[in-house]
Amino acid sequence: MGLWRQLRWRIIAAQMLVVLVGVVTLIVTADILAARTVDPALLPAFEKAVIQALVVAALAATFVGLGASLLLAREILRPLRQLAVSSRRIANGHYDERIPVPASDELRDVAQSFNQMAEALARIEQQRVTLIGNVAHELRTPLAGLEGYLEGLLDGVLPGDPETISAMQHEVRRLRRLVDDLQHLSRVEAGQVTIQSQVFDVVALAQRIVAQLQPQIIERRLDMVVEAPDGAVLAYADPDRTAQVLVNLVGNAIRYTPEDGCITLRICSDTTHIQVAVEDTGIGIPAEALPYLFERFYRVDPSRSRASGGSGIGLTIARHLARAMGGDITAASPGIGKGSTFTLILPRGTDDERGERDAS
Ligand code: ADP
Repeated sequence: MGLWRQLRWRIIAAQMLVVLVGVVTLIVTADILAARTVDPALLPAFEKAVIQALVVAALAATFVGLGASLLLAREILRPLRQLAVSSRRIANGHYDERIPVPASDELRDVAQSFNQMAEALARIEQQRVTLIGNVAHELRTPLAGLEGYLEGLLDGVLPGDPETISAMQHEVRRLRRLVDDLQHLSRVEAGQVTIQSQVFDVVALAQRIVAQLQPQIIERRLDMVVEAPDGAVLAYADPDRTAQVLVNLVGNAIRYTPEDGCITLRICSDTTHIQVAVEDTGIGIPAEALPYLFERFYRVDPSRSRASGGSGIGLTIARHLARAMGGDITAASPGIGKGSTFTLILPRGTDDERGERDAS
């Protein structure tokens, strides 16, 4: 019974069945025709000739049928076996495994889909390895700082005064921010952050954020301007997530703009979207860095950004959130020292929607 579970034997059996049915049909038809048309005296000789012809035809058909089924079975089974072997290799961690693409349409589709899957797995594995490397690298800097302070304290080289403790606290805060950002990033990337979109006024939200960040703006002696059309500019998005994104963009503008610089929040809208451009007169971004700004851990100047506590994940999270709300973030800069503009784009909300929501 086990043989019948094998595709090869089923194909052979199907071909043999066709041969058998052909032979039986021929015998029956020849018999009926002979009874009606052949002279009874010649019937034995006729039957002998027909049987001889049938035996030769049946043998030829069996031979050709067997050959054809074996070839067909081989053509189907070889790629399937290759697929099984390659799947096992990928399961064992060989993500570079690919299978040859056969000529027949259906098997080619299977092989191409398999190879695409293998490529996707290889990419994910590569990202995982890079991520672990990056996290380890990011953790090392504050940990090395803490270790240095502790060794200094133990050896008596550093005094146990508030200054040293505050420096240690700074490193601990940096670690904490990194861990919080990582946790947030993993939730955002896994799509686990809930977005509760509603219609709200972006101008009011921007003014609230500017008021919230006022102490930092004053401390850095920056000028902060909100430019918006008269009246409300309505967006259809999650106000809390929008605030989070804007705090990140304005926070970056504050961080990367030297004293006496200026930050402008320019709000405008078209028929479908609203735009909030956060424009600064800060250190700017070189053109070659612009495509990478939203990648995890990417920093234009790692030492500068790290020293100011930046984890290099803020923009990655911000773009994920903007896209989850049906919008996006773009970055532009005329070059180093010439300032930068980060623009948050969100779907536009309408008064009607607001009315409906208020009523409900
Ligand atoms: P970080 O926490 O390091 O600021 P982000 O993801 O928020 O991380 O930003 C990534 C990098 O983009 C920063 O390290 C910095 O090099 C660059 N960047 C972001 N905003 C600005 C800006 N307004 N001006 C100049 N460079 C910026």
